[in-house]
Amino acid sequence: MTTIGFVGLGIMGSPMAAHLAAAGHTVRGYDRSAPAVEKLVAAGGIAAANTAEAVRGAEVVITMLPADEQVREVGAEVIAEAEPGLLLIDMSTVRPDTATWLAESAHRKGIRVLDAPVSGGQAGAERAALSIMVGGSAADFTAARGLFEVLGATIVHVGPTGSGQVVKAANQLVVGGILGLVSEAIVLLEATGVDPVAGLDVLAGGLAANRVLDLKRAAMIARQFQPGFRIDLHHKDMGIALAAARQAEVALPLTALVAQLVAAARAMGHGGLDHSALLTVVEALSGRS
Ligand code: NAD
Repeated sequence: MTTIGFVGLGIMGSPMAAHLAAAGHTVRGYDRSAPAVEKLVAAGGIAAANTAEAVRGAEVVITMLPADEQVREVGAEVIAEAEPGLLLIDMSTVRPDTATWLAESAHRKGIRVLDAPVSGGQAGAERAALSIMVGGSAADFTAARGLFEVLGATIVHVGPTGSGQVVKAANQLVVGGILGLVSEAIVLLEATGVDPVAGLDVLAGGLAANRVLDLKRAAMIARQFQPGFRIDLHHKDMGIALAAARQAEVALPLTALVAQLVAAARAMGHGGLDHSALLTVVEALSGRS
């Protein structure tokens, strides 16, 4: 059993930390929101008053924070507090160069680092069925594998530091693109008087079948956009994908277009809604909102 410091107990971190505690690990959690920490204690974890307290005595520290800024800030605190040999696993979605910065800063102090972003959303976190894409050394991946198996169903070591975040960027551009196209299908079906429920049911059984259709179509047709995965976070992720493309000197034109649609959803005041609220932008383009 492992002593784990867990920082960031939000929509994703909360069920993940609870699964690790339920599996018998000692989980000392910190979040700047006090109710989030209380929830972990109710699930069998231990409250930490700050990041330093979560790190003290831990063999592994997991971070599940919103974005680059928080990962850099909390990562620096972890590195300052940690003893050499600690394994720091950042499971947030951030830029690949943030993963590289974190690993280089940590290695100078003998701290090991994996970037291990996830896919599968809130439902995947709650059902311990996440896909986990891991960047870092093979030895560190092997050391962490048992913990990943508590959290996920698909666990793949995809390459050296930063690779996990590149794979996650690819994941997010695909999910964003599919959400945009499912939105366009709904607008077309409704505008022509075809029942969107029947229409999308057929799509979900043919070549157009995909997980977004499976999980989101009923809520999209009902215009139920409570998160889930917020537009604000997907906006961040589209920025990560475009930045990674620029660094790799490749053109991703569909990604650029989807990034603009997600930016429009945010500009329309929908940043706090689920990313399936991309439908509101596609509707607005045809004056149907
Ligand atoms: P969230 O906003 O619900 O949770 C983040 C938590 O971090 C919050 O509870 C917040 O209080 C805490 N926090 C922020 N700054 C902190 C600090 N300095 N110290 C301590 N705690 C701090 O976000 P989430 O939906 O859980 O997402 C977390 C990460 O996982 C993001 O990078 C996101 O892109 C990624 N992700 C989310 C989903 C999803 O469906 N929600 C799916 C896959 C990946």
